[in-house]
Amino acid sequence: MRPTLALALLLAPIAVAFAADDPWKLDDKFKAAKPEDLKDAPSVPAPKGAISLFDGKDFSQWVKKDGKGEVKWTLKGGAMEGVKGHGDIITREKFGGTFKLHVEFRVPYEPNGAGQGRGNSGVYVQGRYEVQVLDSYGLKSGKNDCGAIYGVAAPKENACKAPTVWQTYDIEFTAPKYENGKKTEPAKMTVSHNGIKIHDAVPIPVDNTTSGLGGDPATPGPILLQDHGHPVQYRNIWLLPIKNG
Ligand code: MG
Repeated sequence: MRPTLALALLLAPIAVAFAADDPWKLDDKFKAAKPEDLKDAPSVPAPKGAISLFDGKDFSQWVKKDGKGEVKWTLKGGAMEGVKGHGDIITREKFGGTFKLHVEFRVPYEPNGAGQGRGNSGVYVQGRYEVQVLDSYGLKSGKNDCGAIYGVAAPKENACKAPTVWQTYDIEFTAPKYENGKKTEPAKMTVSHNGIKIHDAVPIPVDNTTSGLGGDPATPGPILLQDHGHPVQYRNIWLLPIKNG
């Protein structure tokens, strides 16, 4: 047999397997621990006074990470989906002080991936502090798993739903405080994941987590959604200012 034909025959079943994969559908190999892990977390409408950052219609509130480029992530049935290689996106507006950020997301089913290679994205508050988005379903969560403040704190428990299922983050954030150019209080974060409190006023000792925007931590920053090469989806994102910084 000619080598090219042999190679084609060898690769054909692999190509078919990939083509048949729908990352938004679980197959019968997936085992959920509890039936509710397969049920979407309820979508939460923006309360009075909240700023809608994404309502499923357009990217009017967003730009590329450089602060000016047009966002070309995909819009799909009221959600946005990250496009591999396009890069991170940030809100036009910057936020400081204390605020509550609500984010709905879902990670694809990538059974051939593992570790940081399944449904990786992230929600960076002020562009600097990442709440990790990942398929960590059923794992013992570490500091780099879903719900972790990346590299700083593991979630108190693994509150993940199954991949393909809609999940929620409710993040209450207080920016670090400065006096005469000196940090007097670190940033703090309380996070609920699918309604379960996974961080309770956790102080963040660093000024930037891995791959964050950095910049002067005494100044406001945007919300950043990470492109880590996986088709993670987001919908219904809003921010409620609580106290000016
Ligand atoms: Mg990430």
